[in-house]
Amino acid sequence: MIEVLSVASEAYPLIKTGGLADVVGALPSALAPHGVSMRVLLPGYPKVMEALAASGREVWFYPDFFGGEARLIAGRAGGLDVIALQADHLYARPGSPYLGPDGRDFPDNWRRFAALGYAAYDLSCGIVEGYRPDILHCHDWQSGLAPAYVKYNPGSTARTIITVHNIAFQGIVGWESFNALRLDFAAAGDGAIEYFGNISYLKAALATADAITTVSPTYAHEIRTASYGMGLEGLLKARADVVHGILNGIDQHAWDPSRDETLPQTYSASTIVNRAPNKLALEERFGLAHDDSPIFAVVSRLTWQKGLDMLVPLCDQLVERGARLVVLGSGDPEIENGFNGAAMRHPGRIGVVIGYDEGLSHLVQAGADVMMVPSRFEPCGLTQLYGLRDGCVPLVSRVGGLADTVIDANEAAVEAGVATGVVFSPATEEALSEAIRRTIALYERPKVWHKMQRRGMKSDVSWEASAEKYADLYASLLGLERDADTDD
Ligand code: ADP
Repeated sequence: MIEVLSVASEAYPLIKTGGLADVVGALPSALAPHGVSMRVLLPGYPKVMEALAASGREVWFYPDFFGGEARLIAGRAGGLDVIALQADHLYARPGSPYLGPDGRDFPDNWRRFAALGYAAYDLSCGIVEGYRPDILHCHDWQSGLAPAYVKYNPGSTARTIITVHNIAFQGIVGWESFNALRLDFAAAGDGAIEYFGNISYLKAALATADAITTVSPTYAHEIRTASYGMGLEGLLKARADVVHGILNGIDQHAWDPSRDETLPQTYSASTIVNRAPNKLALEERFGLAHDDSPIFAVVSRLTWQKGLDMLVPLCDQLVERGARLVVLGSGDPEIENGFNGAAMRHPGRIGVVIGYDEGLSHLVQAGADVMMVPSRFEPCGLTQLYGLRDGCVPLVSRVGGLADTVIDANEAAVEAGVATGVVFSPATEEALSEAIRRTIALYERPKVWHKMQRRGMKSDVSWEASAEKYADLYASLLGLERDADTDD
């Protein structure tokens, strides 16, 4: 058994703001059949501590940890083996994992996530009797200091991996915090954590981890270019030999339209007509008029990254072309206002719910016709995978994981019966407008459309292949031979 500690700031179903949580929550069970035992180290936010109330037991006590008392609490919650860093001075507060109720970053995020990284390092040193992970698998900047502690501070022999879920978030803090980080002074000297005069937690991980992974093969290439690397491309190029692109899968139990009891009607690829009651329920929920036209959908953070500012000015055109639109999301106030304005101009044709609603996102995927993901960059993207799984045909830009997971319905692909969606490039308003036109034209060819839906529903969006790749990577870091069929 390879013992891996996954270190992250969120994990579904305990705490989620985005795709990171889905991935961290899905990996342990995906990896179990491959001889990997994975626990998840999380900050002890109120929701996490509540979930651990029944099973959690204290395995370590810190009298003074980054400014207050702290405990490591181990237990089972949400189907995961969790170790929570309970540190009320850092995590017992209202708001999201990163933002206060006022919508601004907590000013002490640097300390909150340094503590997370330090606890991971401590665990890898074996502070808890009977538990000493072989590998720290860190996710995004919030856990980025852990590999640096392992490299510069004494006592850990763990191998380290950083997975980049989004290189736009780099965890940049002022140099004046250095002394409070408990990082060996050697780290200050050799440039690993320094980033344009500041400290970057993500750069620290990229410079010091034994392996770097990101969540799709295309993004693994993109982040080594100036257009997508966001300043870190030079470092990534220099470390190209340890960079791997491993595609995300989805939790096929949570996302299974044939068994999803939250839906008005379950269905499968062979009973796709049974999506109709879901479309009806979706119309009702978003106040849309009932007709036969396609419903385009957005389930997303409403941000520049997601390209949704390009969709706002196309709303009128989309309606003129006879289609309808539902939007579930929140984010940039200008984009929120843009969609709300479009809904007011087009009652019955455009419906908007501003907010985060996991249950509603299932109804959208199971009831709408087209899942739109027109991102400017997209490390992997999960909503297009849920769309494939649910027969909600993805319309995506040709970037990152979107390019790796959706096959464009050009005539040749339609002829060959391999198309699963509509892919456009470049990520511009003009190209998006043309992609919407093309999608409507495809929808008007029901045979082609249904074939595309079925094809998508049958495409492999599981963790199977990728779990194998992670397991191989862990084994190679530990110098172990892994037989392809090994189950232990
Ligand atoms: P990112 O992590 O960049 O936001 P992903 O596509 O990787 O994008 O993952 C987004 C996840 O968050 C998906 O599980 C998606 O269904 C979910 N999601 C995004 N916005 C909402 C929302 N408003 N309500 C419910 N779920 C949402």
